Amino acid sequence: MEDSLESRLLAVRERIENACARAHRKPADVRLLAVTKIFPPEVIRDAYAIGLREFGENYVQEMERKSPVLQDLNEARFHLIGHLQSNKTKKAAQLFSSIDSVDAAKLATRLNAEAKPLDVMIEVKLSGEESKSGAEEGDVSAIVDAIRACPNLSLRGMMTVPPWSEDAEVARPYFARLRELAAKFSVPELSIGMSNDLEVAIEEGATWVRVGTALFGRRKKLV
Ligand SMILES: *Cc1c(COP(=O)(O)O)cnc(C)c1O
Repeated sequence: MEDSLESRLLAVRERIENACARAHRKPADVRLLAVTKIFPPEVIRDAYAIGLREFGENYVQEMERKSPVLQDLNEARFHLIGHLQSNKTKKAAQLFSSIDSVDAAKLATRLNAEAKPLDVMIEVKLSGEESKSGAEEGDVSAIVDAIRACPNLSLRGMMTVPPWSEDAEVARPYFARLRELAAKFSVPELSIGMSNDLEVAIEEGATWVRVGTALFGRRKKLV
């Protein structure tokens, strides 16, 4: 039990519950996205076996490799949380139930053309960091309009990745800004918060926390 996936899941759920209690929120309103990038498909099976159903993957190609051996996990839903290139929208639409990283109107149009119902979120870059993906704040309005004009896409939420810091408080203003932006456009869900800052995210209104390391341990470098 010690340091098993099950014990780590219990610890993450406890962190979520404690943060919800402090923020006067219901734990059921904060959903856990298990981030399985870099880990082999067996890890996803193990997580499924102990009740996890929503998984985040960063790379279309990696999901393409894992997907064939995961077909029997009927209730699993996979979210793309990494940058999507416009030449990979067909594959992405096949492999994922939700594209959480839409950052351009053109991507929405291309995903819609795949004629499969998809949940989507808009990834917004609030940090100004060159290395990060995500839409500029000023482009969000046009992307919202583009997605809402797409009959196959359901705009569920907004996602952001704050600058990395040991100190979770550094993320707070970015989370708060995303909450304001989502409210402005009546977008219901907020995907903010990762292993090291999920408490702050919940205090700022997270409806999804994306947790990798705290569940699965440290990732090896991408080979
Ligand atoms: C890898 C990743 C996560 C998970 O981060 P951890 O710190 O391991 O919990 C969450 N969101 C995105 C976009 C990621 O790329």
